[in-house]
Amino acid sequence: MAKIPRFHGNEVALKFLERLTARGSLPSTVLLTGPGGLGKALAGYQFVKALVCQQNNGGVRGLESCGECAHCKALESGNSSDFVGIRPKTAKLTLKYVREEHNSFREAYLYPGQLPYRFFLLEECHVMSEDLSNTMLKLLEEPPERTLFILITDKPSLLLPTILSRSLRVRFLPESTESVEAWLLEQGATETGAANAAFFSQGRPGLAKTLLTDDDLLPKIAGTMSRFAGVLRKQPDAPALVPLGEALLALADMMKSALVRVEEGEVPQDYYLLPWRRPRPAVDDETSPPMTNERKRELGRDALQLVFDCLQLTMWRVESEGGPAYASAAAPLFGQAASFLDVNLREEQVVDYLLAKLPDARM
Ligand SMILES: [Zn+2]
Repeated sequence: MAKIPRFHGNEVALKFLERLTARGSLPSTVLLTGPGGLGKALAGYQFVKALVCQQNNGGVRGLESCGECAHCKALESGNSSDFVGIRPKTAKLTLKYVREEHNSFREAYLYPGQLPYRFFLLEECHVMSEDLSNTMLKLLEEPPERTLFILITDKPSLLLPTILSRSLRVRFLPESTESVEAWLLEQGATETGAANAAFFSQGRPGLAKTLLTDDDLLPKIAGTMSRFAGVLRKQPDAPALVPLGEALLALADMMKSALVRVEEGEVPQDYYLLPWRRPRPAVDDETSPPMTNERKRELGRDALQLVFDCLQLTMWRVESEGGPAYASAAAPLFGQAASFLDVNLREEQVVDYLLAKLPDARM
């Protein structure tokens, strides 16, 4: 039996999916939430495979699947009409698009043809348009027998409350940086690399691995971060902070490119583990589906939030190691700035706010 590939952490979430697999009666909708780089889509796919694998009769082998039976093969081929996986290529995913591209939803009420269930797995489900959300809601109100919807998002607050309340939610959370560090070491990462990747990914295994795949990236991020921390050790004044704004945004940009790579998948075989992400040869010859600008913007904010988290922790650390009290006074400001990212301020504005406030953090 194949082990779950490249997965680390979130044992509670996986255990929950495992219990669902064994239970025999499924909810109509499972909603997987949590930040990027935790493996939500991979876990969702493993769940689907475990549910249909003929060697994993009734979930006796948890979330494992053989990869060799007719059901596993049908899924892997990407051609099973009983499984529809969608990763939106547009900022708004409309009902028209889903109907045209996937000939689906109208089939939701049909019994599955080959597999024991019919599946719809939708990534970034928060981009569903109003008409698609409403159609989805109707389906959830009178859930079709033997059809399972798997919705995945890092922005559950953008979903209709009625969809949220009808879904069985499984939360994926970042791991401790220590556990990610140990996991990376097990796989042969250097000590510095593992420590930095675990810290800067803030416990997101997929992101940590991506950060490690680029030899230059981690030293660059670590260098900028410690320059920043160095200035903040000294109770700086406003002019001293100005150049750091640029550095902070550049840092967020590096993190963003890593987050984009987590979703785009730099290494083809990793990426194409998930069959619905494979390009369809006859339709287009692009190597991977393009990511929307809107999604890139979301990831940009996510990245800046990560940078703030890292700086906040660094500041606490500086003070606890006997550094100036200014450091711990400055720490909460990073958290405050991060919360502004949720209220639609531009990244530059948030950084400006932060830099203006930092000198006031003087004790
Ligand atoms: Zn199988």
